[in-house]
Amino acid sequence: MAGYGDRDGKIWMDGQLIDWRDANVHILTHAMHYASSVFEGERCYNGKIFKGVEHSERLRNSARLLDMEIPYSVEEIEAAKYAMLEANGWTDAYVRAVAWRGAGEDMGVSAARNPVRLAVAGWEWGNYYGDAKMKGAKLDIAKWKRPSPETIPVHAKAAGLYMICTMSKHAAEAKGCSDALFMDYRGYVAEATGANIFFVKDGEVHTPLPDCFLNGITRQTVIGMLKDKGIAVHERHIMPEELEGFEQCWLTGTAAEVTPVGQIGDYSFDVGALTRDISESYEKLVRS
Ligand code: PMP
Repeated sequence: MAGYGDRDGKIWMDGQLIDWRDANVHILTHAMHYASSVFEGERCYNGKIFKGVEHSERLRNSARLLDMEIPYSVEEIEAAKYAMLEANGWTDAYVRAVAWRGAGEDMGVSAARNPVRLAVAGWEWGNYYGDAKMKGAKLDIAKWKRPSPETIPVHAKAAGLYMICTMSKHAAEAKGCSDALFMDYRGYVAEATGANIFFVKDGEVHTPLPDCFLNGITRQTVIGMLKDKGIAVHERHIMPEELEGFEQCWLTGTAAEVTPVGQIGDYSFDVGALTRDISESYEKLVRS
């Protein structure tokens, strides 16, 4: 497969569908220098984007948290996503919407006079963690911490928050792991570089309270599924020492879907019945 900049197909940019290779920006784009960019990752299954409206709302909200107003409504963003999918002939694809401060009159830190731009692209993306989907992913423990809400708008899906994710994922991959688990600034278990985390102990589920990281749409969906099955879910602060006592573990995210975890650092987990059940139920739900 050719690189992401060099493919056939269409990308929606600032109100129109354009050829894939023409979807470029100027080097003096504010976002390139100062991370004034927010984005969404979504999946379309059988022609329907799972929770598309929630993703479009989150995109607009992430932008607002960064002082940017996206000049398109939720309905217009929805229409852009489906237009892009149709133009590429896809019914099953990953959808990436991205909004950013473009090039304009400002080239300093302040950017109020630069336009807010929007693009929607997509690609076909199978299992995010490869065969970990069956065997259980192996996670490293990141040396970086999820930052305090006083430091940065932690609930925005903003490019700048991924800087430590990329570095942590590089370090993890160098050790043969597929991802890294972050602790937060207080030392509590937080999330992976692009997914939330769940644990099972004695038939009950425990997941970190999303008070300094993204409360994923998949996370919220899975909590709802567990409650519907009558399984107790504890959203709480989790200490790293507790990893030893958990029996099962999985990650949730739009790209990751529900991916079992087999190992975190020196701790091992079973790909047990509840993990498999939730993973299969999620796959059914997104296609229903
Ligand atoms: N945390 C981070 C850092 C992420 O990038 C993602 C993926 N968007 C998630 C959690 C999971 O969010 P969602 O379930 O909404 O995809």
